[in-house]
Amino acid sequence: MTTEETVDGSRNRVVIVGHGMAGARLAAELSARLGDAKITVLGAELHRAYNRIMLSSLLAGKVDESGVELAEAAGHGIDVRPGVEVTAVDRAGRTVTTGQGDLIGYDHLVLATGGRALVPPLAGLDRERLPDRVAVFRTLDDCRRILAAAAGARRALVLGGGLLGLEAARGLAARGLDVHVVHPVGHLMERQLDPAAGAVLARTLAALGVTTHLEVAASAVHTRPDGLTLTLTDGRLLDADLLVLSCGVRPDVELARAAGLTVDRGVVVDDRLRTSDPHISAIGDCAQHAGVVTGLVAPAWEQARVLAQVLAGQDPRARYRPQPPVTRLKAAGIDLAAMGDAAAGPAPDVEELSFSDPVRGTYARLRIVGERLTGAIMLGDNPAVGTVIQLFDRGTPVPVDRRTLLLGRSRDSASATPVESPALMPDAATVCQCNTVRKGALVRCWRAGARSLDDVVAATRATTGCGSCRDAVEGILGWLSSIDTPDPVVEAEVAA
Ligand SMILES: Cc1cc2nc3c(=O)[nH]c(=O)nc-3n(C[C@H](O)[C@H](O)[C@H](O)COP(=O)(O)OP(=O)(O)OC[C@H]3O[C@@H](n4cnc5c(N)ncnc54)[C@H](O)[C@@H]3O)c2cc1C
Repeated sequence: MTTEETVDGSRNRVVIVGHGMAGARLAAELSARLGDAKITVLGAELHRAYNRIMLSSLLAGKVDESGVELAEAAGHGIDVRPGVEVTAVDRAGRTVTTGQGDLIGYDHLVLATGGRALVPPLAGLDRERLPDRVAVFRTLDDCRRILAAAAGARRALVLGGGLLGLEAARGLAARGLDVHVVHPVGHLMERQLDPAAGAVLARTLAALGVTTHLEVAASAVHTRPDGLTLTLTDGRLLDADLLVLSCGVRPDVELARAAGLTVDRGVVVDDRLRTSDPHISAIGDCAQHAGVVTGLVAPAWEQARVLAQVLAGQDPRARYRPQPPVTRLKAAGIDLAAMGDAAAGPAPDVEELSFSDPVRGTYARLRIVGERLTGAIMLGDNPAVGTVIQLFDRGTPVPVDRRTLLLGRSRDSASATPVESPALMPDAATVCQCNTVRKGALVRCWRAGARSLDDVVAATRATTGCGSCRDAVEGILGWLSSIDTPDPVVEAEVAA
């Protein structure tokens, strides 16, 4: 090693444990910086890294398995070993042991072990060996199991009304199943939504074939060859062909704990993503930075970028600085974005505005402190959602006429007027949240000669995460092409 923290690509070996979204991105970032890097990626799953976020779209039938491939999974001379689980780390000898019994040496080790779906303690359920009709929703294999069980099924139950549970529920409903969500809290997505938004969301879901059972837990499950029965704590029995457990994700820290690293809820890391051992870093869903485990891809990818900078010795000042996350539900027929402290109750000095139209499935809530958004919920069709995300992201003052945000209408217009226009968007506005791609980067890319969406995606990675920014990126490209195209009327006038 050249120093404790940097690696010399030609001599040092970097071993990454976990070929998920964080591990794959780190390998690509390192390889781009250290062309001759010796990078070994060990992944317990049998597949190469894939876009886990897109599993919701796979479940809903919107993409097939080729649609969840990750561009960087192809590798750049990186030694990727799928189906290889690391079972132990010897910090003194700087080696890892694989499930096959091999010893692999490292100069720098990166833990990118992600998280595991929680399986709740239900009477009748063997948590180590789930029956065919019961599945969690975390991996491609889980998704395949759910789809296999859903084929020919009529009714599905989803335990957990958080973001992933609702994406699974909507996906199964889109396949024609009668879906019931059982949620122990009084409203859906309680971490992101207030009760009023939860109620509007439940109504929207009902219209899409998803029934919700709130404030009730499940106590037991009984599976039979022809179906299953879920017992609820209020005594009700729900019959179904399939049960999806969506009860939370726990950072996968067992390897780190056994190796004696400092572990809290996640593997504790500093601003340089270093664990308590300077030769070991951790990124993604398994890492805990400043007391926070994120469970989202944007911070995982930003951590991968910062760690690559640190290890490559390119920028000794590189530090991970978390950004407040924006949560978006990716379910057909439901537009939802939630951010900041929007689920919090009223407080002094907080200006609160809300608008609700349950019949149309629309709800908006803004929390403003000192003219800046501290939280927002935008549910349903509201053209101001992009503007709201930008205001939240950048901490810029909100408009004097709040209706432009709440309703997506301008003050002087009786009709709905979109407040967003690529021309008005500042260059610093983040367009792709997952990859932190700003409008300015898209414009620079266009000026450098990129003319198609594919060119821009290849250069910036915009749209390659959850994909919800695709329309916005296309809108910006459309705008750029319109201002680049000579106006025939003006041309004719000039010629005359
Ligand atoms: C259905 C679904 C939808 C989602 N939607 C969104 C979304 O819209 N927006 C968002 O930001 N996030 C979303 N997420 C979360 C996002 O996918 C994660 O934040 C992201 O995958 C984290 O990447 P990671 O590499 O840290 O973990 P993972 O992608 O989980 O990868 C970790 C990998 O490490 C492997 N591993 C673990 N232990 C070992 C070991 N000992 N040896 C070898 N390999 C090991 C695992 O098998 C796994 O392949 C979603 C997740 C799911 C499941």
